[in-house]
Amino acid sequence: MKKRVGIFGGSFDPVHVGHIEAAHSFLESGLIDQLIVLLTPEPPHKTDREKTDYTHRLKMLEIAFKNNQNVIISDIEQSLPKPSYTLQTVEHLHKNNSDTLYFLCLGGDSISSFHTWHRYAEILDLCTLLAVERPGFDKESADKDVLEKTIFVEHKPLDVSSTYIRESKSNQSDRLTDSVAEYINQNNLYQNGE
Ligand code: ATP
Repeated sequence: MKKRVGIFGGSFDPVHVGHIEAAHSFLESGLIDQLIVLLTPEPPHKTDREKTDYTHRLKMLEIAFKNNQNVIISDIEQSLPKPSYTLQTVEHLHKNNSDTLYFLCLGGDSISSFHTWHRYAEILDLCTLLAVERPGFDKESADKDVLEKTIFVEHKPLDVSSTYIRESKSNQSDRLTDSVAEYINQNNLYQNGE
């Protein structure tokens, strides 16, 4: 039987409780055995601002998921050509792991905009989408062909985003794990809503 692996990509700038709870829900669905959390250096649809240093974002992911043995943090997109198109990454993984069935794991916002992704129909040919609901995004706004390939897993939606954490002037530690909040403080990241 093929191994079933989820791919959960993002800029994780920074990783927050919304990501962590989403990862738990993907794994608890029982549809996948393992989750690859994939750090994207330059998401094609988010070129509007300079990202926090890749090494810091990677370190925060490692800290956030260190107690979850079924989660693998991956930096493979660092070594693939830019921009980091999801199709390219999924094709790369497929080619190198033919004994694995991949599921692309996403929040509801990404399902709504999925039809705008680079050659999205080819991604749908390669994998089923697993999704968690995200407040503010109505799954009915997604394209029909995208919804047909999407399984929404059981999940308690959490209203949190990296943008809010980056831009907020107040303490956001309740939206982060303690260890990530500590890393952010020690490294003076996201100070003064910058
Ligand atoms: P930003 O605010 O910088 O756009 P973000 O909080 O949306 O960031 P990303 O790193 O862009 O986080 O997201 C990675 C993945 O996690 C995407 O599939 C996104 O839909 C999903 N995601 C992020 N936050 C949530 C949340 N609160 N609930 C469900 N899914 C989420």
